Amino acid sequence: MMALFLCLSACRHHEPARASAAPRDANVLLVTLDTTRADHLSCYAPGHARTPHLDALAARGVRFLHATAQVPLTLPSHASIMTGAYPTVHGLRDMGGFVLDKSHPTIASITQAAGFSTAAFVGSRVVAKHFGLANGFDTYDDDMGEEKEEGKLPGVFPERRASVVTDRALEWLKQNGRSRFFLWVHYYDPHAPYDPPEPYKGQYARSPYDGEIAYMDEQVGRLLALLESEGLAARTLIIAIGDHGESLGDHGEMNHGIFLYDSTLHVPFLLAGPDVPSGKVIAEQVRSIDVHPTVMEFLHLKPSPQAQGVSLWPLIEEGKLVHSNYSYGETLYPRTYMGWSELRAMRTNTWKLILAPHPELYNLERDPGETQNLMAKFPAEGDQLQNQIWEVAASEAHAKKVTTVPVDEQTRQELESLGYVSGGSSHEIQLGTQAPDPKDRIGALRILDEVATTLNHHDYSRAAELMQEGLRQDPANPLAYTYLAIAFERMGQLTRATEVLRQAVDLHIATDTIYARLGKSYLRLHELDKAVDAMSRANLINPTDLDNLRNLGTAQLQFGRVNEAEKAFKAITLQNDHYSPAYNGLGLVAIQRGDGDSARADFEKAVALDPTEVEPLLNLGVLFDKAGDKSQALRYYQQFLDKASPKDYGDLIPKVRAAVRDLKSGA
Ligand SMILES: [Zn+2]
Repeated sequence: MMALFLCLSACRHHEPARASAAPRDANVLLVTLDTTRADHLSCYAPGHARTPHLDALAARGVRFLHATAQVPLTLPSHASIMTGAYPTVHGLRDMGGFVLDKSHPTIASITQAAGFSTAAFVGSRVVAKHFGLANGFDTYDDDMGEEKEEGKLPGVFPERRASVVTDRALEWLKQNGRSRFFLWVHYYDPHAPYDPPEPYKGQYARSPYDGEIAYMDEQVGRLLALLESEGLAARTLIIAIGDHGESLGDHGEMNHGIFLYDSTLHVPFLLAGPDVPSGKVIAEQVRSIDVHPTVMEFLHLKPSPQAQGVSLWPLIEEGKLVHSNYSYGETLYPRTYMGWSELRAMRTNTWKLILAPHPELYNLERDPGETQNLMAKFPAEGDQLQNQIWEVAASEAHAKKVTTVPVDEQTRQELESLGYVSGGSSHEIQLGTQAPDPKDRIGALRILDEVATTLNHHDYSRAAELMQEGLRQDPANPLAYTYLAIAFERMGQLTRATEVLRQAVDLHIATDTIYARLGKSYLRLHELDKAVDAMSRANLINPTDLDNLRNLGTAQLQFGRVNEAEKAFKAITLQNDHYSPAYNGLGLVAIQRGDGDSARADFEKAVALDPTEVEPLLNLGVLFDKAGDKSQALRYYQQFLDKASPKDYGDLIPKVRAAVRDLKSGA
């Protein structure tokens, strides 16, 4: 592979980071482009999304032709960008049961300690503050507004559009741009479901994924325009990088997370600003773990001692080779949620080895589409890359299991002091054991994708039929059981849905999401004991599932176990003090204890945090009604009636109407 080591302008002697000197008077803007394939930006390849603003950024800076992510999943990939470390070191290796512990320094924690203003504006609940990326940020805006997790398919998270994220970031920049800052803006739009706003919806009707990218580009443009108009561009380093790509059907995958092909590991990476030569294209492979050391050297700050990436400045300024040739990648997701083998990869400028039950070796120069497995022809190359994998992933023995990091250390201690011993304790996931090779399960993967689409089109009986066929092909797949249960649930067949989930438990393949869903089903069937048991198990695997904790608290309240209910709700607020339903729960706990003042404060907080939550409105109405404050009671009852949907509150609405009539007639 020919690298372009052109030094276009002012080649200066490269100075290493001056850690002891004062930090540089400059800013860093990091824009992460979720689910964005490099080859779908017009500066990388024509014919897909038109991205004039990112193209302009590339033209005035550096464009890395071969940048790779370390994990094809949002949360672990962002943790690698922020810490400069591989997932085996930062510990955030998968979704569901992993957080980034505060002991891992990030770009945010280091710049904050050096006196920078730090802020993050994120586009999805996937990176909500309680997963640990918020450490070091003065401001961490993960408010998804009215979007709720409830009723979404697994893997679909509340998100907000790029325009909302940009509005908030611009507002912050106008107020804080004068001081030195590190600003992270995360755009989630290209992630499925693909639903761009007009005019992109119409313009990209045949490829809404590209429409999302084009729309995101427009918003990047707004962000960059403000840097110009505020006079900040000359002293702000701008980095735009993808967290992973999207398969779009390549290798039998529609989205991302299962495979380690370049469709999802190859990401766009652009860098512009002070010291950055314009219009430079670098063909040398670089990695997302290189972002952290590169930012640190730019700011004259010392990188995290855990960082495994390298500063790219010698490569950027002088075309000097840096040690970025070996890029480790992994995905545990097939193991944890599909019952298949995890995958690991080592990628160089020339080769990629994918370590699977049937290993794959590709020559990326000759076969960038990764279609010809050369493992049998080049065993020596394969062996050498495999050794490199174990060098990063520690010993093979260590690779046999992974210990979850379900909450950060401080939260764990706080949970313990609550008497919540179970919450926050880690558990082990077995790796390296016999399991199907994901590429041998493409048929099942295709069915799962089709079932998801069918569920989204509300054709539940067809979805159930398809999923039963899928289960015949892949009988130990937790996601398949989850989808089948969802199909039955949505047809109103709650008992059948519960049986399906129960089957997964009996097969010992139940995930946190299966236990959480099972608990909810039991709660609806008024089987409280079983509900509490299932939800507790879900919480044991994944205490970061705040909706499950809320349901657990609700079940405990129905049992009359006020102390246990309080623990569940407090376990939420310890992790995320902006989660409205937890305060509604704590208000109900206070009522049980006869503490009306605390109850009122909790309900009011719940309403303030999320005005779309109707239950605290009703609770406030009842509270004021009982206290004899008619006007306040009427006010809250009315707000409840205005907002409550007949579908969810059909049995309560007539009762509240009657209460309103009584109050009015008595007034
Ligand atoms: Zn992502």
